[in-house]
Amino acid sequence: MHPIRIAAGGAAALWVGYAWGAHLWAAASTRRGPASARHIALTFDDGPDAEWTPRIADQLAARGVRATFFLVGRRADTHPASVAAIAAAGHEIASHGWSHRSLWLCGPRRTAEEVLRAQARLAELSGAAPRWFRPPWGMVNAALFGVLRRADLRCVLWSIQPEGLRPRGPETQTRHVLARAHPGAIVNLHDAEGVAGAPGRLAAALPGMIDGLHERGYALTTVGDLLRPMEDGDGHSTRAE
Ligand SMILES: [Zn+2]
Repeated sequence: MHPIRIAAGGAAALWVGYAWGAHLWAAASTRRGPASARHIALTFDDGPDAEWTPRIADQLAARGVRATFFLVGRRADTHPASVAAIAAAGHEIASHGWSHRSLWLCGPRRTAEEVLRAQARLAELSGAAPRWFRPPWGMVNAALFGVLRRADLRCVLWSIQPEGLRPRGPETQTRHVLARAHPGAIVNLHDAEGVAGAPGRLAAALPGMIDGLHERGYALTTVGDLLRPMEDGDGHSTRAE
């Protein structure tokens, strides 16, 4: 057997264990809230965006909806006023990492830096440490979960995603969400560009999405409010209001 081929094979196997193997652990991540109430959390990834985030925030305000924004640390650092405005409007600030680099391309040290640097800066800008982390593209690695424990963060993915890597028209997105809506759903949306044109399509889809969910009897809330009954331990809130 050729030694270089063996070495390459070993490295590939290690990478598969580090990235793909860990991807299976994502099953341990949170994808939805309890099904006991007709509550849904809208979540917005990849911002803040100077143009689109305020527009999306206006649409939410017009309908009295609070949501969770998974911000990219470096973009938040560039647009601190946007972060303050979202937080002041009552939305929840969560973390989407520092630079939106795929964690499949990050070793343990870079993984920690992506999480901890975003966490520190978002806490400074919003006045409260984020409690939820969403890895870019939902890709995790073996180092991530230890880092999240250290930072007191939980990995939150989604149960409904109307647009992923491929662009989808606003009407299609609205139909997708309304057809799949379920109690405890976490909806993955994008208020900034990863996929070209994504925030514009979202701005066209969002009013119909929100109105349709309201018509179906769903209350829209933040991830923190959605998951609170689970955090109380037995699926029922025991906390005195
Ligand atoms: Zn993203």
